[in-house]
Amino acid sequence: MYKDLAGKTAVVTGGSSGIGKSIVKRYHEEGMNVMFSYHSGSEESQRLVESLNGNEESRVATMQCDVTEEQDIINLIDDTIKKFGGIDVLVNNAGIQKDVKSHELSVDEFDKVINTNLRGTFIGSREALKHFLDTGKKGTIINVSSVHEIIPWPHFAHYTASKGGVKLLTQSLALEYSRLGIRINNIAPGSINTPINEEFFSTPEEKEGADDFVPMGYVGEPEHISNIAAFMASEQSVYITGQTIVADGGLSLYPS
Ligand code: NAD
Repeated sequence: MYKDLAGKTAVVTGGSSGIGKSIVKRYHEEGMNVMFSYHSGSEESQRLVESLNGNEESRVATMQCDVTEEQDIINLIDDTIKKFGGIDVLVNNAGIQKDVKSHELSVDEFDKVINTNLRGTFIGSREALKHFLDTGKKGTIINVSSVHEIIPWPHFAHYTASKGGVKLLTQSLALEYSRLGIRINNIAPGSINTPINEEFFSTPEEKEGADDFVPMGYVGEPEHISNIAAFMASEQSVYITGQTIVADGGLSLYPS
């Protein structure tokens, strides 16, 4: 637990499932206010809000946001500021991936992945930065990138391009705003047991194969990532900016 997080406010995109949902729960446990966005799955998101808030609290809220829509992100940031009085932490977590041979990849599919993973991260960051500058807050931005920000992946060239873009976006923004005490970092998960990987873990044999491929012998769980999101949001990481923390059970140690 990080005592300095209590009372702070976070926005988490794509918070209704997988890694995002785990970050929402962890930030709630830390005593933070949390606005999380969902793309689809309104009912599931409302259930998460109710289960975390219980009868007494209203520290967790949710709203629909398509991160490929600039205005949706602007609304997400504005509504969070109205509801909780400000923002201290933005987690750009929403993301998609798709297995497509690159010579068969349409421009629409390419754009969809880039617009979700990279452009959405830029727009969210820009809006949070405006708020940090307006208020003088030493806020922090945490991007959920991927080990594929550095590791090539056949059939996922659009995904790796988006995550590689997030890496340099993070570094450039970190440098640009570091003098103001604003920190911007990445978490790079390896293989994590979430809905995005359903196609790879659809049978027990496939899951076993995926576990075995990881040097530590098992696919990670969302909590392995939300633990880092808590650390990165807290003052305990105050001297870290422009960095990627890789959490992959050793996967990136293999020569590519
Ligand atoms: P997930 O599919 O459970 O979560 C992705 C979330 O993004 C979902 O809630 C989805 O609704 C949301 N989303 C998708 N398109 C959106 C859009 N246009 N607007 C708003 N939200 C949108 O999978 P996850 O593993 O929890 O993924 C979270 C992040 O972690 C992603 O950025 C993903 O690339 C990254 N990541 C995951 C793994 C892994 O192995 N699970 C590995 C590396 C990186």
